[in-house]
Amino acid sequence: MADTAPQDNQTYHGNCHCGAVKFTLTLPTITMINECNCSICFRKNYAWIFPPVGGLVFQEGRGREKMKGYEFGGKSMVHEFCPTCGTGIMGKRHNAPAGMDIAVNVRAINDLDIWSLKVNTFDGAAIEPAYVTHPYTGPEPEAVVENGKLYTGSCHCGGTTMAFKSRGAFSEGKEKVHECNCSICNRDGTSLAYPPASHVAVSTSPSAPLTHYRFGRHYQEHRFCSVCGVPVCTRKLPDVSLEEFSLHPNPIVKEMTPEQLKAIYEKMQNMLPINVRCLDGVEWGSFEVAKGDYKDSPPEYEVPA
Ligand SMILES: [Zn+2]
Ligand SMILES: [Zn+2]
Ligand SMILES: [Zn+2]
Repeated sequence: MADTAPQDNQTYHGNCHCGAVKFTLTLPTITMINECNCSICFRKNYAWIFPPVGGLVFQEGRGREKMKGYEFGGKSMVHEFCPTCGTGIMGKRHNAPAGMDIAVNVRAINDLDIWSLKVNTFDGAAIEPAYVTHPYTGPEPEAVVENGKLYTGSCHCGGTTMAFKSRGAFSEGKEKVHECNCSICNRDGTSLAYPPASHVAVSTSPSAPLTHYRFGRHYQEHRFCSVCGVPVCTRKLPDVSLEEFSLHPNPIVKEMTPEQLKAIYEKMQNMLPINVRCLDGVEWGSFEVAKGDYKDSPPEYEVPA
């Protein structure tokens, strides 16, 4: 929510999903975000803005000390995210002058409609050295798929690699990709496909394991890399009984017959949504990414105290 402040500035309130990190951002009304297509910005789907000096203020005890930093390559910049929930908050360039050194991911701001903002694109992928992809060397996903296509990919640091046996190329429309503006998807910036778990194989190194985040009713387990913070996949309804699922406050669930409820419950338990942004060689631009407007669907997200 933006409060009106002097000099036409607005004060925006932001936080990581779990609330461990909280900040205000005071600057002219945000009308545009900066998107970069480099290996890390693309995976995190950052929506950057560059605040003026003093524009970013963390709440006491809820600041950078709560975050984990990730650096790579020439280590000219650190990407800071919440190690509990994975929300990417800021990037800081080490050798840049004040006012040009900090970028804030406005996906962490509450009540900012990212989809309504203008987008300024930056071709970070063209900057040398080029990102080297991390090969997946584990077994293929167990599903047998006729005329399928095998995509592989990884989080940014390569601690987790994965393979996805799709029902065909994304460009052929065989696998749908969705973005969502609910409190967690908006912060994660994920572009998700929803295959059955048997179509996916995930391999994680002990030195850079996946960690996971659950909230609310614990209906979903958001798995992200503990080292680079990139969201990789989501388990739906882990350890949630059919009876618990039937208590979901969404009116769609309430209207279902017991048979429908059981079918959707089993389907959800068997799927493993994956972040397509982690896959290499996806034909981006040749297929439509669906936007799911679930911001206001129940239960309502409340900023943790
Ligand atoms: Zn958090
Ligand atoms: Zn970038
Ligand atoms: Zn990683």
